[in-house]
Amino acid sequence: MSVADRLAHVRARIDAAARSAGRNPSSVRLVAISKTLPLSAIREAYAAGQRDFGENRVQEALSKIAAGTDMAIRWHLVGHLQTNKARKAGPAFAVMHGIDSVDLLHKLDAAAAEAGTTPELLIQVDLAGEATKHGVPPDEVPPLFEAAAGCRAARVTGLMTVPPRPDDAEDARPYFARLRALRDGWRKSGVPDSMLQELSMGMSGDFEVAIQEGSTMVRVGTAIFGSRPVTA
Ligand SMILES: *Cc1c(COP(=O)(O)O)cnc(C)c1O
Repeated sequence: MSVADRLAHVRARIDAAARSAGRNPSSVRLVAISKTLPLSAIREAYAAGQRDFGENRVQEALSKIAAGTDMAIRWHLVGHLQTNKARKAGPAFAVMHGIDSVDLLHKLDAAAAEAGTTPELLIQVDLAGEATKHGVPPDEVPPLFEAAAGCRAARVTGLMTVPPRPDDAEDARPYFARLRALRDGWRKSGVPDSMLQELSMGMSGDFEVAIQEGSTMVRVGTAIFGSRPVTA
C-alpha cells in the first residue's frame, strides 16, 4: 500500500471512531509522525492532503523544516525539548506537545515573542509515573497554568499524554479517560477554557480508543508510513 492509501485508511478509521462516539470527525486532528523518515515520505503524505506533521527530535526536525519550506506544513514537536534549545527551536514549530516545566514555558514564550510567532503548547502529563518518561505528574500541572496566564506570545491550549506502550489498545483506555477527567476537573476549578481545548492522545495502536475518550489530536506514525527503520 502507498502512503496515500494508508493515509486514506487512517482518516476513514478516525471518522468512524469519531462518529461511533457521537463526535464530529472534524474535531479530531491527525498529526502524521514522520520521525526517522525521509522528506520524500513527507512529500507523499503532503501530496495526499496531509498538513500536520510531527517530529520527536529537534535536530532532525529543523533540517526537515529547512528542506521543506516549499510546503505549507504545520510542524509539531512531540518529543522532549531541552530548555537550552528553546530559543533556537521554539519558533520553528506551530505546536509543541511536550511542555514539562515552568522554565521551559517561559523560555519558549520569550523566544516566540522575539520571533513574532504564537505557538500552541501542550502540557505533557505523566500518568504512569515511569521514571524514563517525560512529563509532569498531575499534581504539578497547576503551576504551569499559572505561568501560562502570564505568557505574551505562546499559548497553552491543552494537554498531552503518552501511556505505557499497550499490548492491546484497551490497555491505554484508562490513561486516556484519566487525562480527560483531569481536564474536566481543572475546568471546574477555574482554569481558563482556552488552556484546555486540546487532548493530544492516541498513536497507531490505540488512536480509535483515544478518540472514544475525547482525543482532539492523534499522533500517528507507523499506520501511515509503515514500520520505521530500526535505530540504535
Ligand atoms: C513515535 C511517536 C508517535 C507515533 O507512534 P506510532 O506508534 O508510530 O503511531 C506518537 N507520539 C509520540 C510522542 C511519538 O514519539
